[in-house]
Amino acid sequence: MYDAEHGAMVPAPDAPAARAVAAAGAPWLQTVARRSRMMSTALTVDERNPRHRVVLNPITDESAEVVGLAALVIDAEHFRRSVLPVVIERSLPAFFPGDTRENLIVTVTDGDGAVVLSTSADEGKGEVLTTAFPFVFYDWRLTLRGRHATPEQWARGNFLLNLTLSGLLAAVLLAGLGLAMRAASRAVRLSQLKSDFVSNVSHELRTPLASIRVFGEFLRLGRAGTAEKVREYGEYIETESRRLTRLVNNILDFSRIETGRRTYRMEETDLRALVEGVLKTFEVRLRHAGFTWYLESAGASPPTVRGDADALSQAVHNLLDNAMKFSAETRDIRVRLDRGGREITLSVADRGVGIARGDQRKIFERFHRVATGLVHDVRGSGLGLSIVDHVVRSHGGRVTVDSEPGHGSIFTIHLPLAAPPAETEGPRPAAGAATT
Ligand code: ADP
Repeated sequence: MYDAEHGAMVPAPDAPAARAVAAAGAPWLQTVARRSRMMSTALTVDERNPRHRVVLNPITDESAEVVGLAALVIDAEHFRRSVLPVVIERSLPAFFPGDTRENLIVTVTDGDGAVVLSTSADEGKGEVLTTAFPFVFYDWRLTLRGRHATPEQWARGNFLLNLTLSGLLAAVLLAGLGLAMRAASRAVRLSQLKSDFVSNVSHELRTPLASIRVFGEFLRLGRAGTAEKVREYGEYIETESRRLTRLVNNILDFSRIETGRRTYRMEETDLRALVEGVLKTFEVRLRHAGFTWYLESAGASPPTVRGDADALSQAVHNLLDNAMKFSAETRDIRVRLDRGGREITLSVADRGVGIARGDQRKIFERFHRVATGLVHDVRGSGLGLSIVDHVVRSHGGRVTVDSEPGHGSIFTIHLPLAAPPAETEGPRPAAGAATT
């Protein structure tokens, strides 16, 4: 070895670095001894000793003969500790500007896969790139990882998020559109129902008024020859005026309910007497229309409830009126009073046209009427059942309907009991109630 300081050749010192150089230079000794010519003087690398990697540079004279060998021993530890971190630190900004650098982890591993250096204790997630060292440390690998995810993963995640958000947005828009359409169609339906209501009510008012006028005229002109006829015409006039009163009452009640002004005077009410009273007012109409009707009541003592007698009468009236209106050939109406555990039920059953299942809830809405082709020209205001529903609910009860198209309907009013239940016995027909 050449000692530059003293300008003399010296034996190789006994140190690991010198031994590595001697080993790396051994193949060259022949070349130097023979002063062979070298056309190119490329650097070569000897890495047999990973701790002392040697870079060799053949030295040639003017005639390109090899006269010596310059060797550079690389201190791997120094390279790892002092060179590599600084180089990485300096290079990163050139390739990854701004915030992207924050997301990057650089790791260097040696030939055995052991980590030589890492810019973060974090393992990182998405691997971006792995490359070998280009000169010396050929067995080392430099790896770039994303702290969170690779750009592809990130993009895919973002895409999915955007897709979900777009889907949600579309769903919200569709729901909004659906709601708007529903509101619009309800408004249209309500306005249709209201105009039907006006025409129906006008007709309802006109029919009894016309009858009253005709029978009044008959009486005035003395057409009623016998006392029997006078009684019959009087009966017609009375019945028709009752119908008018009921209609006007319904409309007035409806308007009070709508404006929240409907009040009830609650008192102990004998339900059986109440139903009998209402049936009495129907008697003429029922008889003329050829109905059979029954009042059945369970229990010895009359069932009492706390309620507004007028309002409850009106509810029963509306149910009976419907039972008559919506009966076809079989004209049979059964009113039944029953006492359950803690409630009293009043049901009005007919054997008329019945109500399709889909309509059974809607009929309690104001103005709602079912178009029925079975019963010819049935007029009505569409308010009757909505008033029944309101009255009964104001009494702490509920109305139910059990109906089958073509077989009839049973409307049942359930009311809470006022007095503790007395002993009950089987249903018994009301005295004199069965009539044709
Ligand atoms: P209205 O009788 O004046 O039409 P309601 O509110 O009393 O109004 O009844 C609403 C609708 O419910 C009726 O138009 C009819 O279609 C149906 N309905 C009510 N009661 C009966 C019944 N007993 N049998 C069949 N349909 C009925």
